[in-house]
Amino acid sequence: VTVRRATEERLHQREAELNQAMRLAAAGEMAQAIAHELNQPLSAVANYARASRSMLADPERHGALLADTLEKIAREPNRAGQVMRRLREFFRGGGLRCETFALPALIDESLSYVRRRAERQNIVFKLELAEALPKVHADRVQMGTVLHNLLANAIEAMHNGREDQREIEISAHTQANDMVQVCVSDNGAGVSDEMEGRLFESFATSKAEGMGLGLAISRTLVQAHGGELWLANARPAQFCFTLPIAGAKHD
Ligand code: ADP
Repeated sequence: VTVRRATEERLHQREAELNQAMRLAAAGEMAQAIAHELNQPLSAVANYARASRSMLADPERHGALLADTLEKIAREPNRAGQVMRRLREFFRGGGLRCETFALPALIDESLSYVRRRAERQNIVFKLELAEALPKVHADRVQMGTVLHNLLANAIEAMHNGREDQREIEISAHTQANDMVQVCVSDNGAGVSDEMEGRLFESFATSKAEGMGLGLAISRTLVQAHGGELWLANARPAQFCFTLPIAGAKHD
């Protein structure tokens, strides 16, 4: 009995240590994310301030530009504030503001944000939306973030591919279990073996400028709705996620 109790105690101790380690890791991740996100507005402020100082040497000539640059300095902290709010919402889990809406409208809206970038790279979009697609019940802003992350990844994935084969397909159809499934596929090189096992981990990225948070955040957001987000095919890449149909039993 004593031996068993000692073993159990060691296990508890080990579990407590692990919990503590996980909390520290999460705190470390959060700190890193905040540092990364704040760096941009802070260095913008520093650059504008330096530019303003040199414009002050000849205020007659640069007066208008100086006023404009000072205005930008005043605006940057707002951007930093928004970043902080977004991160706080994410790490706290936020709280969903669910509404009933039609997916095609949200897909259109998400496409409008990336259309110019896609056109510059000769990427064409193909939509395969099931007829009479039922409305979904979800946080529209968060689902816009998810779609945007998947579209941005698909666009970036085709950067090096052949120009005449750059296509992104977005499909949506109803599943048997009161969920709608949305898939985004591209025909870039696909997900590498090295990335495949850790795609959804925070800070897992293969991009020089990547943050590696897009998929981790997107999956968390979808799961908070009772849905799932997964890699359906690695090469070429296809990501799918599910959302509850409005009026179905999950509401
Ligand atoms: P980031 O885009 O900042 O790297 P993500 O979490 O969105 O962060 O993506 C993580 C990684 O998953 C990417 O760096 C890339 O290696 C891989 N990935 C995501 N989408 C695709 C895609 N459509 N094709 C190929 N690789 C992808």
